[in-house]
Amino acid sequence: MSDNLSKDRLVRNEQILRDKNTSAKNAIKKYFRNNSKVKATPIDFVCECSALDCDERVKLSINAYEKIHQRKDRFAIAKGHETPIVEKLVADKQNFGVVEKHELNA
Ligand SMILES: [Zn+2]
Repeated sequence: MSDNLSKDRLVRNEQILRDKNTSAKNAIKKYFRNNSKVKATPIDFVCECSALDCDERVKLSINAYEKIHQRKDRFAIAKGHETPIVEKLVADKQNFGVVEKHELNA
């Protein structure tokens, strides 16, 4: 997996998953807009790693999720799901990891 084409594909997969998570998160926020605690409650996000067949869930609060995605090159993944060829692990939390893409700008 050394050509740029497959690297692009890995990065794109993570962007698609992030977009899915973002719309799910926004729907939850809208639905529970009168509940001030909703953003601090851990919910299941889809793991944003580059494995095309990964269906793991990552539990984190909307607050934590939004903080990670303030940077466009950062993604939330399940523990140990990083792919060093396209990203580096920048945070290793108890329940999830955060990776930063080499080829995306913040
Ligand atoms: Zn994964």
